Amino acid sequence: MSKMKIKTKMVHGGISEDAASGAVSVPIYQVSTYKQEGLGQPKAYEYSRSGNPTRHALESLIADLEGGVRGFAFASGLAGIHAVLSIFKAGDHIIMGNDVYGSTFRLMDKVMQNFGLEYDLVDLTDLSALKKTIKSTTTALYFETPSNPLMTILDIRQLTEVAQENNLITIVDNTFATPYFQRPLSLGADIVLHSGTKYLGGHSDVVAGLVTAKDTNLAERIGFMQNSIGGVLGPQDSWLVQRGIKTLALRMEAHAANAQKIAEFLEKNPQVSKVYYPGLPTNSGYEIASKQMSGFGGMLSFELQDESKVKYFVESLKYFTLAESLGGVESLIEVPAVMTHASIPKHLREAVGIKDGLIRLSAGGEDIHDLLEDLQTAFETIRN
Ligand SMILES: *Cc1c(COP(=O)(O)O)cnc(C)c1O
Repeated sequence: MSKMKIKTKMVHGGISEDAASGAVSVPIYQVSTYKQEGLGQPKAYEYSRSGNPTRHALESLIADLEGGVRGFAFASGLAGIHAVLSIFKAGDHIIMGNDVYGSTFRLMDKVMQNFGLEYDLVDLTDLSALKKTIKSTTTALYFETPSNPLMTILDIRQLTEVAQENNLITIVDNTFATPYFQRPLSLGADIVLHSGTKYLGGHSDVVAGLVTAKDTNLAERIGFMQNSIGGVLGPQDSWLVQRGIKTLALRMEAHAANAQKIAEFLEKNPQVSKVYYPGLPTNSGYEIASKQMSGFGGMLSFELQDESKVKYFVESLKYFTLAESLGGVESLIEVPAVMTHASIPKHLREAVGIKDGLIRLSAGGEDIHDLLEDLQTAFETIRN
């Protein structure tokens, strides 16, 4: 299967059809338990927390797409992150990018820390800062690229090299790029995870998490946690995510094309003071992104010249729905300081550059002319 091109893998990768019936999509096995042949002779599945054929099809697909040995599907992105962080033990120290997703930070700070995991937040664009923070108990390096919400690009190969020199496990949240545009395992990472709620599901109709690992040892540790903690994805939702992934390539092309045009439009607008999109040659991450990604993604952020108009601006849009989340076919807009990143204390938010006036946008699949016109109208409204 690994010889297929990525776009073909989206459709035919992992387990993509039902061998028994010939059905071209894997059926929803809505079942909790499985008949055993005899005492102590289970067949492939015993109990659906430990394994379910529909979930297994999705798990094999994410492993195939990212180049991992095994995949794992969870009831949410955070359930997946929780299972991954659970392979560590009290006293272990984890270095995290200083602008990780707000709820990932909260999980580390308010939950895992209570169980003895230690962490430091580091600006990972600064390698010397990373090296200085590594100590004898450091076991892992965790980051996102592009990051949320500032689209900061981190050099995956460079970071994994430092991690390997220091025996750290590198964990990359690949939610924003998706395996269509970026495959961190091929750049040296050990574990890749996703909020499947976003681009992989792709239609704002399911909450899910996906994880895959490079080697069998790590995969076994994660699999053990998945089964022991139990935050697994149900068969219906597994089916929805697999269905979403079948069109991931088509959607990502459309999201990226629209995001590029919106970013260029915003960059020329005098009412905008800053645009964050790695596909703009003026962006500090442009060169690294061009090297490690095959597209720049569908997410961007920007700051209004007049911060006081943020509320008015986001409320006057017609096609950009004011909502958290991202990666669906519909364009979404949000204000991180008030919405997705409100769980990060204001002083920490501002230290990493998330201003109260920052607006994050998820470019959907609508006609670009409608989207630009909508933005233009909102800019005119706030000028008056
Ligand atoms: C949404 C998101 C998560 C959390 O995923 P859920 O499915 O909401 O639990 C983690 N990382 C990133 C980058 C996200 O955007």
